[in-house]
Amino acid sequence: MSTNKNLPSGLKCTQQRKKILEFLENSKLHPTADDIFNKVRENMPHISRTTVYNTVNKLAKEGMIKCMNTRNGEMRFDAHTEAHYHFMCGECGSIFDIGPCTGLLQKEIDGHEIKDIFICYNGVCKECRKKGVAAKEETNADDDIIFE
Ligand SMILES: [Zn+2]
Ligand SMILES: [Zn+2]
Repeated sequence: MSTNKNLPSGLKCTQQRKKILEFLENSKLHPTADDIFNKVRENMPHISRTTVYNTVNKLAKEGMIKCMNTRNGEMRFDAHTEAHYHFMCGECGSIFDIGPCTGLLQKEIDGHEIKDIFICYNGVCKECRKKGVAAKEETNADDDIIFE
């Protein structure tokens, strides 16, 4: 019986790439390399963290996926390669796609060549707002007492 370990390394690589791409395409959450590693490992227990990191970096270099640096220094990955707006929640760190930004795409500005555009709104997401509203109401009640 042959196991995965006996596969030629090229073929093994292709399978790993496929799994990683598949996960990214199905994920709308812009995962970190660690998130990808933890997920892909469920199906490929032999995959190493280094392999996942190398593969996502390679995919990003080839333009198959996008990588972005968030304000808190995290690198997040996205299989959605068309220019699009993002929304990042400062409370829970979730990143959402909120539509294409084709109208803003220019080839050149002031002689600088534009290769990509990355626009990210920062704020508080729906879920965190729901939780936040309750907290705010309590704070306001306290304020009222102080100011009276
Ligand atoms: Zn949130
Ligand atoms: Zn995105």
